[in-house]
Amino acid sequence: MTTYTDTQLLIDGQWVDAASGKTIAVANPATGKVIGKVAHAGIADLDRALASAQRGFEAWRRIPSNERATIMRKAASLMRERAADIASLLTQEQGKPLAEAKGEALAAADIIEWFADEGRRIYGRIVPSRNLAAQQLVLKEPVGPVAAFTPWNFPINQAVRKISAALCTGCSIIVKAPEETPASPAALLQAFVDAGVPAGTVNLVYGDPAEISGYLIPHPVIRKVTFTGSTPVGKQLAALAGLHMKRVTMELGGHAPVIVCEDADIAVAVKASASAKFRNAGQVCIAPTRFLVHNSVRGAFAKALAAHAKGLTVGDGMAPGTNIGPLANPRRLTAMAKVTEDAVARGATVETGGERVGSVGNFYMPTVLNDVPLDADVFNNEPFGPVAAIRGFDTLDEAILESNRLPYGLAGYAFTKSIANVHALSQRLELGMLWVNQPATPSPEMPFGGVKDSGYGSEGGPEALESYLVTKAVSVMAI
Ligand code: NAD
Repeated sequence: MTTYTDTQLLIDGQWVDAASGKTIAVANPATGKVIGKVAHAGIADLDRALASAQRGFEAWRRIPSNERATIMRKAASLMRERAADIASLLTQEQGKPLAEAKGEALAAADIIEWFADEGRRIYGRIVPSRNLAAQQLVLKEPVGPVAAFTPWNFPINQAVRKISAALCTGCSIIVKAPEETPASPAALLQAFVDAGVPAGTVNLVYGDPAEISGYLIPHPVIRKVTFTGSTPVGKQLAALAGLHMKRVTMELGGHAPVIVCEDADIAVAVKASASAKFRNAGQVCIAPTRFLVHNSVRGAFAKALAAHAKGLTVGDGMAPGTNIGPLANPRRLTAMAKVTEDAVARGATVETGGERVGSVGNFYMPTVLNDVPLDADVFNNEPFGPVAAIRGFDTLDEAILESNRLPYGLAGYAFTKSIANVHALSQRLELGMLWVNQPATPSPEMPFGGVKDSGYGSEGGPEALESYLVTKAVSVMAI
């Protein structure tokens, strides 16, 4: 086990304590014990970070894109070399099983490399002019210093997509990473520092989230805001950004429908949706949450999903053989107990789980609820935990209507062998991402983002770069 380290702020290329000396305690969710602390930035620190990001932007944007790509690739190699140590930090502070934590660190390397390469292909255009003596150019330029707010469920991955998109387009960034899981994002930033990004290009702060967003978003240095987190907070930040005319990417909550049709391969449906459901103890914005199963196969599906859930080992993420670690914080434990009680009180049946495990750490049993009524909280608000809620349908129209009923529109899943069903689902579901006959397979080259209350903008594919670029039209007359 790598020794857990305290986390400082990264400003102007230096790791520093808060000017006030203030810190926040960090606890291990498997034991509840305090394992370290993180610096709590105040306004004086934020002012320094803003000045640093402005200088970092001026330095970084002047580096040619092929050289920027070389530095980013070096950061990716460092993440690969350090993945085992970083995974240990991540599991100790966030709880997920070590193998998932290592996968997250390695995926970060992959993401950095893809963006490094994509950044070399940011092209403008030459537009034929109405006057042959003039040449018309369309230039793509970096938007400027970015303020990024990232959550605790994937402390590395939520940050790396934002940092990579910012850096490959020539922007600098201030990341406000999660106070509950600070060491693993700090290790990510360290990889960029060690790879040789100029001082100030990447900055990292922690503190009071509302104070930091309230100060950074309106600040004239910041030109773009990107946030991953809950829909209510996202709406507040988007409103503030709108008031100050800042570019915005919002990756918010979801409530992913899983449509299991009568012709589905049930074994595939169970394996794929269960792995997506219980990964990271269900604390995933694209996790399947509303299982809509054709009534002719619902009994068989519910039994098989429950059997799968029962077979999972719940425990400390550091222990070999653990499939589900603790929930990341006690708030999630309370939330899981509440949604289960509410569903049962309204008539749902518990196929398996439905209880806390032990009294130490935030462990909750992987849970499968069946016959869940539409008015149950779990069918309306994102559960963000290891609870799968099942209800039946008789026609595909019914399943599509239910999928589109909520204001969320992030991810969805479908299981069917019928091309007609796939056609209808892919055209009519109001979602940003749809996986058919498979678990979620997000990759840097595919768009990642939602519609409706799940936010706007994308954190993958070429679309991810567009939101970090501004367009300049230049006309040059020969004289
Ligand atoms: P929360 O809404 O208080 O916080 C969510 C995230 O936003 C945290 O990282 C937090 O630090 C940050 N945040 C909160 N207020 C902020 C502000 N004013 N300015 C800037 N950042 C702010 O809830 P929580 O208890 O931490 O998480 C619960 C809910 O958040 C979940 O139910 C889920 O819907 C959502 N969430 C979503 C994701 C995701 O990947 N989309 C990740 C984590 C949490």
